[in-house]
Amino acid sequence: MDYQKFFQASIDKLKTEERYRIFATLERQVGNFPQAKNHKHISKNEVTVWCSNDYLGMGQHPKVLKAMHDAIDSLGAGAGGTRNISGTTYKHVELEKEIADLHDKDSALIFTSGYVANETTLCTLGKYIPNLAIYSDSLNHASMIEGIRNSRAEKFVFNHNDVDHLESLLKEQDIDRPKLIAFESVYSMDGDIAPIHDICKVAKKYNALTYLDEVHGVGMYGYKGGGVAQMVNASNSVDIIQGTFGKAIGTIGGYIAASAELVDFVRSYAAGFIFTTALPPAIVAGTIASIQHLKTSSTEREIHQARAALLKRKLSDANLPYLPSPSHIVPVIVGDAMLCKMASDILMNEYSIYVQPINYPTVPRGSERLRLAPTPLHTEAMIDDLVNAFADIWQRLTIKLAA
Ligand code: PLP
Repeated sequence: MDYQKFFQASIDKLKTEERYRIFATLERQVGNFPQAKNHKHISKNEVTVWCSNDYLGMGQHPKVLKAMHDAIDSLGAGAGGTRNISGTTYKHVELEKEIADLHDKDSALIFTSGYVANETTLCTLGKYIPNLAIYSDSLNHASMIEGIRNSRAEKFVFNHNDVDHLESLLKEQDIDRPKLIAFESVYSMDGDIAPIHDICKVAKKYNALTYLDEVHGVGMYGYKGGGVAQMVNASNSVDIIQGTFGKAIGTIGGYIAASAELVDFVRSYAAGFIFTTALPPAIVAGTIASIQHLKTSSTEREIHQARAALLKRKLSDANLPYLPSPSHIVPVIVGDAMLCKMASDILMNEYSIYVQPINYPTVPRGSERLRLAPTPLHTEAMIDDLVNAFADIWQRLTIKLAA
């Protein structure tokens, strides 16, 4: 086989379909979020970032930075090993206690990312629980899909957020067969929210475990930032809550929170936990500082929701076609891969506004979009600039306006 030819042909195929990904090389600047420098230009022009998952700006919060600096100075750079072999510091243990408390669970376990937490936990449960049937929402994140696939457990996909369909699938199996329902709280591409109580209710009826990905909810919802489940008072009904530190918390890493037995089981059997180096202590220290701050301060959450509402109102006034989600995520539909890329390029090159185009397979073909992530640090003037730029581009490229 001509390997290079194969690689090049595969890349060319993506380019023809307008799906080839080009990364913006940014220089984030402490104290200036959501502005960043764009390294594409020799002059390194300043851009306003509208697609960061640092939802609350915690990646630059002084308390987080101080905790990280202190930990580097006192504990060094790396963890020095896997959790099992010399990589568990007192900071890792403290963070796991902090997370268990955040979600009102017995125990928690940290992983190197949210992706790894999902992939590893679902893979381990599906592999070791005898004859487990896994029910997966049709819009679940790739990390859950991979974990389920790698576990080789039997999988049933239920229509997105459709509890009746889920129940019709659960009903077909023997009541004594072990079952697990995997779903998300906030779906990151549409910004819609799962009916957590209803899903937990059918789970109970059919004796199924529930696994909730709170990646886009943690830090942002709930009285102490414990996610959507906490906000709707359902934390106790969900068996396993999974989350990330890479979004609202502002650092990196992932976790699960659950019963002591389940967490100890995953800790003891999960390859993706056991055979990899632990997170650096400074990351862990910054994460603890961020979670502790968000447990007691609701200011960021409140301003964030207000900014998201303001952005939606201004998009509405300009007749721009955003999906009216109940969450902080604001997807504006373009509906065509090439137009979506063109719109994103014009925003960056002419308006110094950075919004990455979202294409297939992340979203279905024909629903290509610009996904906006407002933060508490986006000002009203920034919102006005964005909406004006969108209105101009929609007209120039004759993209469909709202009905
Ligand atoms: N789950 C969902 C729903 C996500 O959107 C993502 C990342 O975008 C992940 C899991 C993975 O989290 P992380 O970025 O921490 O690996």
